[in-house]
Parts: sequence; structure tokens; C-alpha cells
Amino acid sequence: MDRIIEPILCNGCHACYAICPKRCIDMIQNEEGFLEPSIDKDKCIECNLCTTTCPVNNDLTIDDKNKLISIVAINKDDNIREKSSSGGVFTEIANYILDKNGCVYGAGFNNNFEVEHMKITDKSEIYKLQGSKYVQSKIGKIFLEVEKDLKKNKFVLFTGTPCQIEGLKSYLGKDYEKLYTQDIICHGVPSPKAWKKYIGEFKGNIKDISFRDKTFGWNKFSMKVESDNSTYLNTLDKDTFLQSFLKNFNLRNSCYNCRFKKLNRVSDITLADFWGIENIDKKYFDDKGTSLVILQSYKGQNLYQQIKNKFISKEINLEDAIKYNTAINKSVELNKKRNIFFKNIDRYKYDDLVQKSIKETNIEKIIKINQRIKGKIKRILG
Ligand SMILES: Cc1cc2nc3c(=O)[nH]c(=O)nc-3n(C[C@H](O)[C@H](O)[C@H](O)COP(=O)(O)OP(=O)(O)OC[C@H]3O[C@@H](n4cnc5c(N)ncnc54)[C@H](O)[C@@H]3O)c2cc1C
Repeated sequence: MDRIIEPILCNGCHACYAICPKRCIDMIQNEEGFLEPSIDKDKCIECNLCTTTCPVNNDLTIDDKNKLISIVAINKDDNIREKSSSGGVFTEIANYILDKNGCVYGAGFNNNFEVEHMKITDKSEIYKLQGSKYVQSKIGKIFLEVEKDLKKNKFVLFTGTPCQIEGLKSYLGKDYEKLYTQDIICHGVPSPKAWKKYIGEFKGNIKDISFRDKTFGWNKFSMKVESDNSTYLNTLDKDTFLQSFLKNFNLRNSCYNCRFKKLNRVSDITLADFWGIENIDKKYFDDKGTSLVILQSYKGQNLYQQIKNKFISKEINLEDAIKYNTAINKSVELNKKRNIFFKNIDRYKYDDLVQKSIKETNIEKIIKINQRIKGKIKRILG
């Protein structure tokens, strides 16, 4: 086997890595910093399990489907909302599973503030998974661990991006009654290499990071990096990591044509920010964080029934709910300057890298001026 999938389509979900019976697939960082499968051809037995398990090659069937139910929700506990990116729904789903002696899987920071999937089994650890980390999370051997827990008949909550959920389900290959999955509406995932560069430029030991600090309000994206002796806090208009994320410079190639963005998902629950809620029902907007919850399956519906007393919430029709959140089923546009960003990633400091990528290069400017002059001359000459 030479290749599982075209690199431009690979979302790095690790399903191929986990399924390989010969352990001959490694996940290697490409030059942009994203993990991609690499096959040791000497060990490969051509069983094709990697290609047939890849969720990009596969359309998973969605059974247990009910009509989608969309809900606006605000956690009644303001402390939870403060630590969460949106309205703090994830925390209550996690609490529900942990109350059943289950395991919760999600994205957290390791000791070097790299983002990776990890397992928690105690409520005292929920803080590790709370809050969005706008970086592609490394799955590693997590799918194997999830399967082990399910085979031990444990309750498991697996949370992640839509492609990670499809990767897991495709790897497992069957339904487990005690498996709950929760995905997000996903803008796209930034490069771990870009992230490493950005945090590497902070002085002192980093103690904590929030990509969605709410000091200036939920509506304003703010990055907070707390070090030994200083705190950095900047909103989107000043923070260059958030700019490179939301201007689509540093996203994985597959995110610009994501096939996992859709209304009907294989997950049980989809979570998101309820953008535009102030135009729909002002009662649910206090700028401290409001969630959009989409119940995808009966299982998701039943789970939400058990936790709904934790929220101020009501049902909203789906069309209104997603009106201001196009990322649910539309990929973001490829930024034409993305190649400038990655070409220069090892050359400049992060702030300069983003500024330079935003600004047109002089050559591009000259070409544009030339084209304008040529157009004018053509018009004058008829
Ligand atoms: C990369 C990314 C892009 C997103 N894009 C959008 C968007 O375009 N529109 C929108 O409305 N919402 C988006 N979200 C979702 C939103 O930011 C919140 O994560 C979501 O609403 C849950 O909020 P909460 O308050 O319930 O819980 P929180 O405590 O804020 O969320 C924690 C949950 O997020 C998961 N998580 C955190 N970081 C990652 C990661 N890197 N990869 C996978 N899972 C992660 C954790 O595993 C946990 O399940 C995005 C999130 C991420 C991580």
C-alpha cells in the first residue's frame, strides 16, 4: 500500500493508524505541522483495512435518527460558563457520564501546552477539557483506549471535531449502547506547528491559556496567556493567532473542503456558540456565553432530558438556530495568502508572519497596478 488517501483530503483523524493490524502506520508531521499517515511498506500486508476505515472514503450510515432538535442553552452556574467557551453545556454532559463511573475523552493541553486528546475519569479533571483549543488535537492511541473501555462495558463520552467522531465510529465499526459522542460546529483546525511557534514566543513559564477569555465579553474572541509573572490578554483585532485562525491562514488543507460539515451528523449531540441569539431572543444574551445544542439522535435527546435542569433553555427552530452559524454545513474559504503564511512560517516571528501574510506582497501590488493600468489603456483605446 502506497497511500491511504490524497494528503489534501486527509483530516488526520488517526482511524487508519488505529485499525492497522500490523501497526505499520505512523502519523508523521508534514511541513505545515499536521499529522499524516505514513506506511511502512515492508510490514504492510495489503489488507486494505486502512483505506476502508478512512472516514473520507466511507459514508457512515446514520441510524437511530430523529428529527433534529435545536436548543438555546445557558448553564445556570456562571462559574462553569466563565470556564467554557460557549454556554457551558459540555461540562454537564461530562458530569452525567462521570456520575455513571464512565470515562470522558476530549481535547486538553499536555505539559508543553500542545493540544491532544486525553481521558478523564473524575470530575476534578473536567477543567482539563473545558474551553475550546483552536488547534488540531492529536488523537494518538485514544481510539484504542475508547474501544477497551467500551469492551469493559463502561459508559464513554467521546468529544471532538466532526471528523474525529466519524473517524472513531468508523474505527469501532459497530454501535455500543454505552458510547455517547458529542461534536462541535467546527470552523476548521489550525496547525499545531503554528501554535507551537506562537506560544514559543512568550517569555517565562506558561501557566494557563484560554482561547476564549470572556473579560471583554463572549462575543469578542480574546486570547489569554498567563505566565509566571505576566498576563497577556488581547482581543481578535490585536491577537495574531486568533487572526490567523479566523482569517483561515493556518487551517488544515482538508478543512477548506470538509465533508463532515452537515446538519445530520453521526454524533449524538452537536454543540456550538449560539451566534446571533441577540437577534432571536435577547433574554438569552448577556455576553457571558450562550450555547446552541443540536440533539442528533434519540440517545442524545434522552441524555439532554437528564441534564436539562442545569440550564436556562428552550427549543428554537433549526433554521433560526443556524442562520448566523454557516460553519455547520459550509467549509470556510481558502485564504489565497495561506501559502505565503506557511512558506514563511520558519522565517518570521508570529506577529510579523501574520502581518506579512495579511499585507499584499510588493510583487502582488505591482501586478495589480499593472493590470489596472492595462485595463485603463484598453478602455481609452476602445
Ligand atoms: C477547532 C474548533 C473550532 C470551532 N468552530 C466553531 C464555529 O465555527 N462555530 C461555533 O459555533 N462553534 C465552534 N466551535 C465550538 C465552540 O467553540 C465550543 O467548543 C462549543 O460550543 C462547546 O462549548 P461549551 O461551552 O459547551 O463547552 P467548552 O467547555 O467550551 O468545550 C469543551 C469541549 O470542546 C472540545 N474541544 C476543545 N478543543 C478541541 C479541539 N481542538 N478539538 C476537538 N475538540 C475540542 C473538548 O473536547 C470539549 O468537548 C469550535 C471549537 C473548536 C475546538
